[in-house]
Amino acid sequence: MAEKLLTVSHLNKNYGKKEVLHDINFSVDKGSVTVILGPSGSGKSTMIRCLNGLEDFHSGQIDFKGQVIQPGFKKWQPIRQNIGMVFQSYDLFPNRTVIDNILLGPLKVQKRSHEEALAQARQLLKEVQLTEYENVYPRQLSGGQKQRIAIVRALELNPEFILFDEVTASLDPEMVRGVLDVMLQLAQRKMTMIVVTHEMNFAKQIADNVIFLEDGKIIEKSVGRQFFDQPKTERAKEFLNSMD
Ligand code: ADP
Ligand code: MG
Repeated sequence: MAEKLLTVSHLNKNYGKKEVLHDINFSVDKGSVTVILGPSGSGKSTMIRCLNGLEDFHSGQIDFKGQVIQPGFKKWQPIRQNIGMVFQSYDLFPNRTVIDNILLGPLKVQKRSHEEALAQARQLLKEVQLTEYENVYPRQLSGGQKQRIAIVRALELNPEFILFDEVTASLDPEMVRGVLDVMLQLAQRKMTMIVVTHEMNFAKQIADNVIFLEDGKIIEKSVGRQFFDQPKTERAKEFLNSMD
């Protein structure tokens, strides 16, 4: 049996009186890719943000490798060090070079040696084909390059898993492929990933598990390509048709 990295049980979240996540249950195996799909406003980002403590939740729990996280949990800091996150907006520090952006976390937070952290950063930059961009500023990069740097920055922390929230949504079409290819490589290397995306072909390629959300509820959970080839619910069928 695969090792469970994360188990979410009966999670509920409200914004004011509005319930945005309702009785969310799922688990993530180490080395697997979980793709979260659903229309805009269905709660995908909120769910992702609950998983690394950017949002609190109202009931239920998250079990992260035996550490139980319940509403009001305050000790996110050490856990968050094991969770990578890449957002739609690149959120690199504009006044720092690429290499400084990548090294900030490992040096300041993880207290690693400069030499060791730099060696890893250079290896990662090579893997995303951005070796020669070490000393440039984010504004000198294309959107696709910025997202590849944001992925490197997440990887440099050697996280247990990485959350990706629509990381190609603001990219020009010609930039999307390069970013998706980096994510496919990570999946092949068995990085545990939770991925929100609207790129259906990519989702079909990369998903070990699919969670389909609507109105804050999990409508469908599937394994592998099943969601795309044989959706179980009418809502999933309609969603897939709308994405063509
Ligand atoms: P998705 O990522 O699937 O588009 P979100 O998680 O961003 O959905 O949003 C889910 C619901 O929660 C939406 O109805 C949205 O308007 C609402 N929402 C998101 N963030 C906030 C917030 N900070 N305050 C109030 N409502 C919010
Ligand atoms: Mg979102």
